[in-house]
Amino acid sequence: MDSILSIFKIGVGPSSSHTIGPILAANRFCELIAPNLEQVERIVVTLHGSLCLTGKGHLTDVACLIGLNNVTAKDVTPNIKTKILKDVFDDKKINLCGKKFINFNYKKDMIFNPKMLTFHENGLIFEAFSSNGEIINSHTYYSTGGGFVSSEDEIKNGKFSNQIEKELQFDFDSAARLAELCKVHNKNIAQIALMREAEIHGEEYVKNYCLEIYKAMIECYENGINSTERTLPGGIGINRLAPAIKKRLEANPKEDLDPLAVIDYMAMYARAIAEENASGGKVVTAPTNGACGVVPAVMLYTKNHRFYMDDAKVIDFLLTCCAIGYLYKKNASISGAEAGCQAEIGAASSMAAAGMALVSGATTQQVLSAAEIAMEHHLGLTCDPVGGLVQIPCIERNVLGAIKAVSAAKLALEGGYTPHVTLDEVIITMYKTGKDMNPKYKETSLGGLAQMVSC
Ligand code: SF4
Repeated sequence: MDSILSIFKIGVGPSSSHTIGPILAANRFCELIAPNLEQVERIVVTLHGSLCLTGKGHLTDVACLIGLNNVTAKDVTPNIKTKILKDVFDDKKINLCGKKFINFNYKKDMIFNPKMLTFHENGLIFEAFSSNGEIINSHTYYSTGGGFVSSEDEIKNGKFSNQIEKELQFDFDSAARLAELCKVHNKNIAQIALMREAEIHGEEYVKNYCLEIYKAMIECYENGINSTERTLPGGIGINRLAPAIKKRLEANPKEDLDPLAVIDYMAMYARAIAEENASGGKVVTAPTNGACGVVPAVMLYTKNHRFYMDDAKVIDFLLTCCAIGYLYKKNASISGAEAGCQAEIGAASSMAAAGMALVSGATTQQVLSAAEIAMEHHLGLTCDPVGGLVQIPCIERNVLGAIKAVSAAKLALEGGYTPHVTLDEVIITMYKTGKDMNPKYKETSLGGLAQMVSC
C-alpha cells in the first residue's frame, strides 16, 4: 500500500506526469548506475508515447536532464535549471548524477519516439553506455500520473517502490470501506486518514506535512498573483491574467454588488496557481500539476469567503483530499495520458469538493456525495492541450474545476439530498470511460482543440 500523503508533492511545473515523474525516473536511474558510474561515458534517453507527443511543451526533456543531474523536483530552482541547460546546450555536457561530467549531444541522446510502450502511455527508457559503446545499464520507467513512477517489474508484479509493507489497521481501498471505518470508529474521513497515515509516519509528521503542503500552495499562489511575467512561455501568447484580476478586484471589490463576483475571486485563485505551473514554477501536485489550482483555489475560497480556517481545519481539508485522491490513484487513474482530463481536473474537483464539504460540517455520506457529484459532471472530459503545453484548456479548466467543486459541495450539503450514484461507482466509470477514450484525446495533442487551434 502507499502513503496517501504522496497525492500532494512539491515539485515544478508544468506537468506532474511529464515533468515531475521524469525527474524522479532519472533520479532513480542515477541510483541504479551509481555503482558503475566510473565506466559510464554516454547516456541516451528515449521518450515514448505521450511523453514524446507532448514532451517538448511539457518540458519532459528538460526534466530528464534535471533528474540525470540527480537534482530532485523539490530542490530544483531556476538557477539550477539554467546551469543544467547551459551545460547541455552550450557546452554539450551533462553532470551525470551530479558527480561526473560526460558529453551529451541533445540531438542524438534525447530521442522522441511516439510509439506507446506496453504498460502505460507515458514510458521512458534510460540507457548508459561505456566508452566503447557497450551497454552498462538500461531501464524502462512509466510515469503513471501525479509524479508517481513505476518500473516495468513494479507494474507487472503490482508492487511499487514506495509501497509500505506493513498491514494498516485503518487502511481503505474503497469509499465504502472508508465510510465503514468512519462509522465503526465514530470518526470523520479526515480523522481516519490521519489515523491511517499516523500508523506509517506518526501523527506529528502527518500534520506537519499537511501544513508544509499548504504553505507551498499559498507561496505558489502569491508567486502567481505577484508575477511580473506578462506572457507565459511556449509561444502561443497566453497572457498571465491573475495579477491583473488582483489589481481590478483590489481597486473595485464588488462582492457586495454582484452576487456572482466570487467567481472572479475563484478565477484569480485558480489562475494564479495554474499560470505559475504553466511557467515552470514551484507547485504542489493536487493530484497532478495540470490540475494544481483546483484544491488551493477552493481552500482560498473557503477561507476568504466562508469561514476562518485554522491549522486544524487546513489539515482536515487536505487529509480529506488525500483520502479521495488516493481512491482515484488506487482504483482508476490520475493520469491525463491514461484516462483524459477527467482523471486530472475531475479528480482534483472531486477531492476539493470533499475537503470543502468536510470542513463545512458535512456528514461522511455528504462528503462522499460531494466527491461523487464533482466527478460525475467531469465524466468524459478529454485532454487535448494546444501546442502540447499546459495552458489551453488547462488554466481555465482549473477555474471551472474549482467552481464545480464548490457547487458539488453545496449540492451534497442540501438537506434531503439522496445519493443514487456512489463514489466507488463513479470512480470505476471514469476509469472505464478513460480506457474507451480515443488516444487522440489523451494528452497526445493529436485531436480536439490541439488540432483545431492554430498556434
Ligand atoms: S487538458 Fe487536463 S489533463 Fe490535459 S494537460 Fe491540461 S490539465 Fe492536464
